[in-house]
Amino acid sequence: MQGHRYFAELTNGIPAQRIRRDLPLIAGTAFAFGLSVYLAISLTRNVTQVAAIWPANGILLAALLSLQRRISRIVLIPTCIVASGLAGFLNGDNTAALLANAVIGPLECALAYALLQWNGTRAHVELTKIWSFMRFVSVALVAPVLPAAAGATATTFIFEANFAESMMRWYLSDTLGLLVVTPAILLISDTNTIGRVVAATESVARHFLILTVVSAIVFFQSSAPLLFLLIPVSVLIAFRLGPRYAAMATLLLSVVSITATYQGLGPLSLMADEGTRIWVVQLFCFANLLTSLAVAAELEGRERLRSELEQMSALASDRRRQLDAALDAMSQGVCLFDRKGDVVVRNSRFLSIYGLTEEGAPAGMSFSALMEACGKAGAVPEADGKPVELSVDNDIEQRLVGDRYIRINQRVLSDGGAICTYTDYTAEKRAEAELLHRTLHDVLTGLPNRRLLVDRVDQAMAAARRGRSAAVMLIDVDHFKSVNDNMGHAAGDELLRVVADRLRGCVRETDTIARLGGDEFALLLMDPDQTCDATVVARRLIESVEHPIVIDGKPLRVGMSIGIAIPPEDGATTDEILKAADVALYKAKRNGRGRFAYFDAAEDAGACSARRIESELRRALDEKQFRLVYQPIITSASRDVTGVEALIRWQHPELGEISPGEFIPIAERNGLIAEIGEWVLDRACRDAAEMAPLVKVSVNLSRAQLFDRTLVSRVAQVLARTGLAPHRLELEMTETAILHNEAAASQTMADLAKLGVSLAIDDFGVGQSALSCLRTFPISRIKMDRSFVHDVDQDPKARSIFVAVVSLARSLGIKTTAEGIETEEQRLVAELAGCDQLQGYLLGYPEERERVFFASLQPARKAAAG
Ligand code: C2E
Ligand code: CA
Ligand code: CA
Repeated sequence: MQGHRYFAELTNGIPAQRIRRDLPLIAGTAFAFGLSVYLAISLTRNVTQVAAIWPANGILLAALLSLQRRISRIVLIPTCIVASGLAGFLNGDNTAALLANAVIGPLECALAYALLQWNGTRAHVELTKIWSFMRFVSVALVAPVLPAAAGATATTFIFEANFAESMMRWYLSDTLGLLVVTPAILLISDTNTIGRVVAATESVARHFLILTVVSAIVFFQSSAPLLFLLIPVSVLIAFRLGPRYAAMATLLLSVVSITATYQGLGPLSLMADEGTRIWVVQLFCFANLLTSLAVAAELEGRERLRSELEQMSALASDRRRQLDAALDAMSQGVCLFDRKGDVVVRNSRFLSIYGLTEEGAPAGMSFSALMEACGKAGAVPEADGKPVELSVDNDIEQRLVGDRYIRINQRVLSDGGAICTYTDYTAEKRAEAELLHRTLHDVLTGLPNRRLLVDRVDQAMAAARRGRSAAVMLIDVDHFKSVNDNMGHAAGDELLRVVADRLRGCVRETDTIARLGGDEFALLLMDPDQTCDATVVARRLIESVEHPIVIDGKPLRVGMSIGIAIPPEDGATTDEILKAADVALYKAKRNGRGRFAYFDAAEDAGACSARRIESELRRALDEKQFRLVYQPIITSASRDVTGVEALIRWQHPELGEISPGEFIPIAERNGLIAEIGEWVLDRACRDAAEMAPLVKVSVNLSRAQLFDRTLVSRVAQVLARTGLAPHRLELEMTETAILHNEAAASQTMADLAKLGVSLAIDDFGVGQSALSCLRTFPISRIKMDRSFVHDVDQDPKARSIFVAVVSLARSLGIKTTAEGIETEEQRLVAELAGCDQLQGYLLGYPEERERVFFASLQPARKAAAG
């Protein structure tokens, strides 16, 4: 079966190709084989017709071991047989000897090869490993036994020699051939240099020179048995130059010593018996070979071990470098501690986090010393001096100097050491803080929002229960709505920002100014003292907005009402205290804007709130809680009272007097304004009908009334019912109301004008002051807003605008009234500017109707004085 396959391999072409590749080696081996057969026969064949050394077998075995392909080996063996036969023929051997030599040698090699392969696995002969070498030696000792027997038999027949002697010689020469030549060839041709003893050429030359000199001395004198001196020289070569040169030297020495001995040279010639001489020289070669090759193999084994170790340590230090590089590239700091708590490694990120230098935190440093070094480097705040245990898992958050935040994860390792990672999460922390800031602050003003205020008030309440003092204020910006409505949201926003800044300027760091929404602000005052008690601060806040706020080049005047509540007397919980402040705020507004009021628990029994007002308004109408007061309006030229403005008053049985500024907007929202307005109109007209005939009555119309389709007919009915002449009724409406729906307003106003009623624009100057509406609507009068008038005596700019508006109105045939005259200066300016009418506390407060009847019949000067 096997043979069949070989045949197939031989014939299918590919093996032929393979053989061609191995052909030079096959041919070379056959040639060397033939040549060495020839030389061995011609130089060392002795009386027994057996050569003393048979290198041919060594050559063939080396070739068999070198060839990778079985087919090449199969081809090589017959080739060598032919070469051997040829050599014997050339040497003039008889046919029998020629055939014996030719066949026995190659078959012996095949047997040796098979034995080396025996053991299941394909044996790889590694002569530089001592056990592999020993195995080779064993094979070299075993394989020639049968061939030697065959050879000796042949020799006995052919030459009639002694069988035993012949057998011994044959065996020894074959063994020597295998032992000496095969290793030499294999080792010399082995190009693998890894783990090899590398010898310098110079050293090789020196040692081989010594070998040559000693050999020459040994073989060229025959008087002393110096042969064994060669062994130390071989061993020296094995030691210094390694197995390759040892094998080479052994081969050389064996060939030289055997050849020389045969030629009658050297110390062995001292022996008379030729047979003994050959024995001795063969044994010498054998011993020399074993010694030097064994030494070389052992040495090389150690050399290999050493180079492997070197490689491993190079690899380890490479790994270490890679590990260091990887650690240093990490964004986290890392520190590894051994079981004693000493630093094993730490990366450069760790050093940079704590501001340490390489030398400042060397490997081997103890944990406590490292903590101390971190402290000294200045990164860890002094307060954070607590040393942490390394023996437990731990997750710590640490705040470093410069607002840096480090998260430390500490893990105990199975070997008792610990690994700590240091993550800088400052960016995360900042983002978190930013987010928190957003949820707790008002975007527009940057002030804390309601949520944060409530939080702080919560804390203050707790502190108040422990005896710390605090005050909670709710702040409402007056007139904000009209700015927002008339000048647009951008202006409103700007106003709030300025107000916020001013409020902030009035309080300490420890206090909290918050914006609750719209025009509502709040203040939490902590630990008020004499210089900074609630009253002082409230005054300061109100004063802070007294100075006009310039927006879009316009000076705006806003007021501020403040309600104050003191914990814990005014409320035990945050909710209660904020409600109390709210109640106080209403009280402040009721007392007139620009004021502050403290919460009073006694008043709180009937404390009012927007909701309460809303529910009370209806009752107020039914129970006739409203009344009208009249404020005189003076004609500048004559200083006579020529008109009165009807102003509503609400006297609540429990809440006291509630200002129209407070309840009119609520009535507008819930629709009660129509009824209230109708009542005012009716009342005012009836009262006016009883006043002096020259006195005109001015009635305020709210926005809702202006857009009530029934307004015109109602006015007509009232006039008819009360008998008041239409020209004695003046209706005041604000510019904002008109501009809210110009078309509707213009229709209503035209119809009212047709009735003969006069129309006036109220609060002129705080809104858009659209002079255009002066031309398009049937308006007979504008009332310059009191905030406008307020500034005319002090602010030249306000004064020149005031003068310009008055003269423009006059040029359009529209009369002007200056509201809110409080000082003589204001009156003077208004008169000089050309205002027809004046109104204000200087000239007369709003009065009950009975007093007005009397005053209206008197000269104006008296009214003013009274
Ligand atoms: P208004 O129409 O501008 O009324 C004038 C306000 O200025 C009155 O406040 C009056 O008391 C106040 N006043 C008069 N002279 C001076 C002064 O020299 N200095 C200062 N600082 N203030 C002065 P009042 O009565 O609180 O009315 C506030 C607002 O309520 C009125 O402003 C008006 O818009 C509205 N209102 C009042 N009565 C009625 C009403 O019957 N119907 C409607 N729809 N609104 C009314
Ligand atoms: Ca008015
Ligand atoms: Ca007014």
